[in-house]
Amino acid sequence: MRIIDLEGQQAVDFLVYDAANHENRYNAANTIKINRSVYVGKGFKLVSDLGEVLMTVVEDTVGHHDTIGGCCSTEVNHMRYGINGTPSCRNNFTTALRAHGMDPRDIPANINFFMNVPVRADGSTEIVDGLSEPGDYVDLRAERDVLVVISNCPQQFNPCSGWNPTPVRIIEWHPSRGR
Ligand SMILES: [Zn+2]
Repeated sequence: MRIIDLEGQQAVDFLVYDAANHENRYNAANTIKINRSVYVGKGFKLVSDLGEVLMTVVEDTVGHHDTIGGCCSTEVNHMRYGINGTPSCRNNFTTALRAHGMDPRDIPANINFFMNVPVRADGSTEIVDGLSEPGDYVDLRAERDVLVVISNCPQQFNPCSGWNPTPVRIIEWHPSRGR
């Protein structure tokens, strides 16, 4: 599959599950250990709770995506910005997961494509301006049948989506059916 950041600086919150066993899901800590990096880029393997590779990043025009920031939520937006009732990736995830019989307990720490969360030498970190430009993309190859859940981040109160959420495009290729 390809995820295209059509206008640039748009965070895409991303989860992936083994389609045959939803408990075998993307695990951030295992993925960081195996790839020996907190930043997702070309060649990066998305590793599950059970130590299996669910997907591989096979192409990437940015080379720097986040593994530690997690998803925005209505509750943490209130905590950070004092604003009630905001749309959020956590709500989007919950809605999408419900269609597959899952609930908020099935939301682990997610990947944020096109989101820039540098970890500085002193260990400090924060969400800063994204590095992606219009048309930048990431290609992912499924290493088995997987369920992917995506939230195009609606956050307006920090720079993760350039203070202005914009559309993305998803293209799926199937090995037997073509695009
Ligand atoms: Zn978000």
